[in-house]
Amino acid sequence: MPIVPEGSKVLVTGANGFISMWVIKTLLEQGYLVRGAVRSAEKGKRLREYFAPYVDKVEWVIVEDITKNGAFDEAVKGVSAIEHLASPLTSTSDDPDEFIQPAVLGTVGILKSALKEGPQIKRIVITSSILSVLSTVKSGRRVFNEEDWADEFVNLVKELGSKASGDAKYRASKMLAEKAAWEFVKEHKSEISWDLVTLCPPLVLGPPLQDVPTPNDLNISLKIWFNLISTEKDDQVLGSTHGFIHPKDIAGAHVLALKKEAAGGHRIIVAGGTTTWQDLRNLIYSLKPQLYEKGILPRGNPELQTIVTNIYDTTKSKNILGLEYKTYAEVIHDTLADFEARGWLKEPASLS
Ligand code: NDP
Repeated sequence: MPIVPEGSKVLVTGANGFISMWVIKTLLEQGYLVRGAVRSAEKGKRLREYFAPYVDKVEWVIVEDITKNGAFDEAVKGVSAIEHLASPLTSTSDDPDEFIQPAVLGTVGILKSALKEGPQIKRIVITSSILSVLSTVKSGRRVFNEEDWADEFVNLVKELGSKASGDAKYRASKMLAEKAAWEFVKEHKSEISWDLVTLCPPLVLGPPLQDVPTPNDLNISLKIWFNLISTEKDDQVLGSTHGFIHPKDIAGAHVLALKKEAAGGHRIIVAGGTTTWQDLRNLIYSLKPQLYEKGILPRGNPELQTIVTNIYDTTKSKNILGLEYKTYAEVIHDTLADFEARGWLKEPASLS
């Protein structure tokens, strides 16, 4: 029997986001009821359209400011589980708190609301990130597992403040939020009815369900990916490593994390694998040579000798969640098919 059985109501935060829409779709397909939280009625428009076939199984609520005390008190009422995804991925300000405050206060706030709400809440899943795990690999290759934490970037942001890169601020926000969640659980162990799972995925890559009129409107992981395959980059960038996971797999992981009793209390890396950007270009070339022959995508430096510096140990995800991952070839196929169906990839991309 799943710890959160089908038919239960699940709160999903950041409901209009790329991953959340896939999580909601998967929950609904598997028989759950969903309450999705967004920041404004306007943000819920696409959700109402896209999930119209499930009108009696979903409801949308507005949580305007996740940093406010008690922000989620109403949203958690009557749910059996929570999938917390709302967190900033970009910022127009230099202030690290633009990332850190919503990430940390949003996470602790939802846990506080769940604590107040009472015993029908059984499980809370927080979407952390592989960036909460990773540190810089200075030479050779390194295998990362759930024991690893990105303290390096928290320290860097403490040291440099607003001068730290946006990437470092984002990494710090994800690690601080995840650590705060585990700390909260430790402090309130005797009072809580639920247990916690944190998921640590790398770049989520696949068809977007949210409204994306142009490539510039893509969510950040797809925009990074599109930029890295469609514009000229130097060898240092081309030789660097990234990880990937298909949105169906990360959404599946969020639902399995509600079902599998044994997942409670675990931090779990979920990833399809890692490769370098040049190796990715070479793989796309082998699958879709016409995109290169027509000059739509640049080859980069096919002769470049690359080393995959970061390996993610996904044993836990396989043993506890029973996850199986789509390959990078499947990710590429689904993503490029989606982009082509939108009329993109007819000419070289010009991303801003
Ligand atoms: P999206 O940008 O598509 O969605 C982010 C969601 O979070 C949106 O609903 C957004 O609301 C909400 N949000 C952002 N900032 C705030 C804020 N300050 N207050 C309240 N809500 C906010 O991102 P993804 O779907 O890609 O990411 C979802 C989660 O997954 C995040 O926690 C992210 O860190 C994590 N993640 C993502 C990865 C990826 O590759 N995509 C990889 C690893 C982790 P609004 O639309 O109103 O801004």
